Amino acid sequence: MFIEKKIVVVGSTNTDMVVKTERFPNPGETVLGGEFLMNLGGKGANQAVAAARLGADVHFITRVGDDLFGQEAIKQLRNENIDVSGIGVDRGENSGVALITIDKNAENNIVVASGANAKLSFEDDTVLKKAINSETIVLVQLEIPQRSIEQVCHHAKEVGAVVVLNPAPASMLSDFILQTIDIVTPNQQEAEALSGIAVTDVDSAKRAAMKIHSLGPRVVIITMGAAGAFLYSAEESAFVDAYKVKAIDTTAAGDVFNGALVVGLSKGETPVRAMELASRAAAIAVTRIGAQQSAPTLSEVKSFFA
Ligand code: ATP
Repeated sequence: MFIEKKIVVVGSTNTDMVVKTERFPNPGETVLGGEFLMNLGGKGANQAVAAARLGADVHFITRVGDDLFGQEAIKQLRNENIDVSGIGVDRGENSGVALITIDKNAENNIVVASGANAKLSFEDDTVLKKAINSETIVLVQLEIPQRSIEQVCHHAKEVGAVVVLNPAPASMLSDFILQTIDIVTPNQQEAEALSGIAVTDVDSAKRAAMKIHSLGPRVVIITMGAAGAFLYSAEESAFVDAYKVKAIDTTAAGDVFNGALVVGLSKGETPVRAMELASRAAAIAVTRIGAQQSAPTLSEVKSFFA
């Protein structure tokens, strides 16, 4: 009998401060924006919540400051049925914050002050040992130090866990990370940063994916916004169309895609089948305002596509 795998997300927690605006200011310019919203965010927290909403068993490992933002984050994550026992509280740092502006075309600009996220470290790997085993899928992003990601990869490989890396925001990756992760999920810009190939269509996505595949990851999935997502592995290449929806806010489309992808994988689905669930969940998310709160539940996915 197949036993559903547990998902362990290791990554950032931020408080998102969102302002809507007609247009982005030029450098040195001030514009009067519209509505203000404050939400729990961070790629790690967003992806953990996206996976938990779809009914998965999710353990989230992150670090927050000893402040109101951190306390509120833990409370909200617990309310999402996420195991928060691996969350560290840093007495000498602020919790992470992200300043987000969204313009009338639903484009976003984001500046992150990492705070405690930058101190997430596993010199003492007790928390990893407790959470990660051979029945685990680990999901990581790049809003925490690369040294910490290497420690996660090292431990995951030792115990035989699957590692999925969403390489966002775009940065160079160490050979160790590239060669230890199983699945990598860059968007177009991140795929270009990793491969040196500009991704503009399916053909260039395939060339970029093949290049990234040659660097180590077993499976490469390049997400291409409203165009869809492309998968390349030694066994297959496949393009999964995005669903046609009216996008209102694309913030966290990638986070919902990644959270849903690992849920599919945790149920034993193939990467391509898991991408189907991911595309559905992400399509719903872009029809709603916000990051984490735009992630759908499993029943919402079922009824949206009924
Ligand atoms: P973000 O940084 O905004 O979180 P991203 O750049 O990491 O997103 P994208 O490639 O933009 O990720 O989107 C991820 C997936 O979400 C796409 O592969 C697609 O399945 C879905 N998606 C994104 N935008 C749309 C859209 N406008 N309509 C339908 N699906 C979308």
